[in-house]
Amino acid sequence: MKIILSILFIFIVSTSTLSADSDVDLIQLYKELHLNPELSFKEEKTSKKLATILTGLGFEVTENFGGYGVVALLKNGEGKTIMLRADMDGLPIEESTGAPYASKTKSFNQVGDEVFTMHACGHDIHMTSLIGTVVDLISKRDQWQGNLLVIMQPAEEVSGGARNMIKEGIFEKFPRPDFNLALHVSADLPAGKVGYVPGWAMANVDSMDITIKGVGGHGAYPHTTKDPIVMASQLINSLQTIVSREIAPIEAAVVTVGSIHGGTKHNVIPSEVRLQLTLRSYTDEVRNQTISTIRRMARGLAQANGLPKDSYPEITLKDEYTPALFNNPALTEKLRISFEKALGQENVLKLSPVMGGEDFGMYGRVEPIIPTSLFWLGAVNKKVYDTSLRENISLPSLHSAFFLPDPEPTISTGVKAMSGAVVDLYQD
Ligand SMILES: [Zn+2]
Ligand SMILES: [Zn+2]
Repeated sequence: MKIILSILFIFIVSTSTLSADSDVDLIQLYKELHLNPELSFKEEKTSKKLATILTGLGFEVTENFGGYGVVALLKNGEGKTIMLRADMDGLPIEESTGAPYASKTKSFNQVGDEVFTMHACGHDIHMTSLIGTVVDLISKRDQWQGNLLVIMQPAEEVSGGARNMIKEGIFEKFPRPDFNLALHVSADLPAGKVGYVPGWAMANVDSMDITIKGVGGHGAYPHTTKDPIVMASQLINSLQTIVSREIAPIEAAVVTVGSIHGGTKHNVIPSEVRLQLTLRSYTDEVRNQTISTIRRMARGLAQANGLPKDSYPEITLKDEYTPALFNNPALTEKLRISFEKALGQENVLKLSPVMGGEDFGMYGRVEPIIPTSLFWLGAVNKKVYDTSLRENISLPSLHSAFFLPDPEPTISTGVKAMSGAVVDLYQD
């Protein structure tokens, strides 16, 4: 099935800046985005491309809003304002999917290292589905009235994008939304299905840096050193007891050490080791307990190893905190009804909260609160999904080098679900 939308002609006549072969083909747009991922805060070309498309579709477009953010407004008479958001950034991962359109792109990260870059979180699907949705909504503009506010958000993966767009005045400089909607691909659901989670749906996310200091020296004379590699190992093991022995078993929490760096050579004991952690939780209490327990354990480790106070581990809680995502239950119920109408009851599933994070929740945390909801869009090829069930093989997760959405059914389902829900919300 080709996802060439019914208002093909609108797209062609109004997007003279688009090349002839990319006029209407969402799959081609998807593949172009997939081939050319850009890292967080560096989404220059991606945002330009999307701004050009949205301008061509008749939106009033504001570029470079809160970084490379794009805000596009389409006024279609008196009515509610609905905000739809997609995120634009890729990840520093070397793609291993083997797809003919796999990314081979390299880019420079924040500290100037050249890294492979991949859309491993499906943000390319999000952007394409959103363009498909607005094209579809324009074709149905006699069925709804109001303001359609579309935002293409930068830097979701480092949790700066939503914060920046809110700070820059997304809710003051444009019509204030009655509802905020977004979708995220799911690496666990087959393409063709969507999932909804009323209430708390995604976790608090914190990033923490720990530098363990020691006293370096010769690897053959360890007694003359304070070995930070051994201390890092001790600390990592202790951290495993936070979730298993400190947090109440019915509470949700994750402590993951995702990066450890130290040392240069076999026979040299280094003077420091650096760790990077991701911390997940739902409640403020568990979040605070996790952070303070890590501080206590790190201090205790330094003491146990006889380090002076000025050599205690340095702990930095990054300011890229993402609060947990709360899906407004009343809005989510409306979405469920619309999805079932658009896709059939069997393709709409109620799902459980996860420990992944999404800064989309921030748009719902403003005062007065704006009802906000994000739904899951199945992205796994049906055959691959069935095989995984039959043979009990786990599927590549989001952020995996092997994560490969099935573009056609995924995008067409995303467009159908989102567009149907938006029309219903305008008419509500
Ligand atoms: Zn992600
Ligand atoms: Zn994502």
